[in-house]
Amino acid sequence: MAGKTALIVLAHQERTSFNYAMKEAAQAALKKKGWQVLVSDLYEMKFNSVLSRKDITGNPKEPSKFKYGAETLIAWKEGRLAKDIVEEQKKLEKADLVIFQFPLYWFGLPAIMKGWVERVFSMGFAYTFQTMYSNGPFKNKKALLSFTTGGAESMTAPNGINGDINVILWPIQNGILNFCGFKVLEPQIVYGVAHVPQEARVEMLKSWEKRLETIWDEKPIRYLPIQDFEGFPGGFVLKKEVEEARSDDKFGPSVGQNLGKPLPPDSQLKSESTRL
Ligand code: FAD
Repeated sequence: MAGKTALIVLAHQERTSFNYAMKEAAQAALKKKGWQVLVSDLYEMKFNSVLSRKDITGNPKEPSKFKYGAETLIAWKEGRLAKDIVEEQKKLEKADLVIFQFPLYWFGLPAIMKGWVERVFSMGFAYTFQTMYSNGPFKNKKALLSFTTGGAESMTAPNGINGDINVILWPIQNGILNFCGFKVLEPQIVYGVAHVPQEARVEMLKSWEKRLETIWDEKPIRYLPIQDFEGFPGGFVLKKEVEEARSDDKFGPSVGQNLGKPLPPDSQLKSESTRL
């Protein structure tokens, strides 16, 4: 993979954590295969995860009615975003593959990582209404979530107490990654990491390293392309002919666009080629 660049975004406070070990394993495995590896260790960087007016430099266009999205769009066009945002955007521009490494917090990204997304994936740079989903600015990049959980796998099953993991993944994988155009690779999930034997954790690190050897060849998870939807002013809803073509399908097309049918099993966990 000479010539390819990966960015690992890590959200964990401790170097002794399993998440840190996953980051180290990924960095080493990718480097071994010739990747250039960039790292954003968010706690180490003390990354500011709170949006504010300070995210733009110079004068706001409308200081009395400051609108974050509009002001950061203009600032991005004029090269006036805050330095820490620009530095992360430069890393993203270089990256062919982005790995988000984190412990699952409250069914989602840790706040510091959510804040990184909110500030760095700014309007214009990461999306517009003209360039979103399969037309998104990151359409030539791949991304994947690599995370640990406190709960066991059985807890995040369709009959588990936390509910279907496909539902938990949808807002992050679709609402953030797919929305900005990334090709989303299958997530790497280490369930109940603190409650499995040490040997099992060592095996998990090894299988992560093994997967990374050929990560670039993996097929992404399938999302409905933007062409399947009516554009503006059509309300961005699924085209009638697309819906009709799927009327006999047992499952809805996606977790979100489920058309009132059963959710497609494994759709957020597996690519089309590896689904059960
Ligand atoms: P650690 O506890 O740091 O590590 C686990 C074990 O791995 C330890 O025994 C450690 O010594 C060992 N280890 C470290 N390095 C290595 C290595 N190189 N080789 C082998 N073993 C190693 N969980 C959920 O399921 N759902 C939630 O919604 C959720 N919300 C949370 C919200 C908050 C605010 C918090 C604090 C926790 C939440 N959790 C939740 C639990 C959380 O996801 C887990 O605590 C976390 O995933 C554990 O990952 P860790 O890296 O911190 O593990």
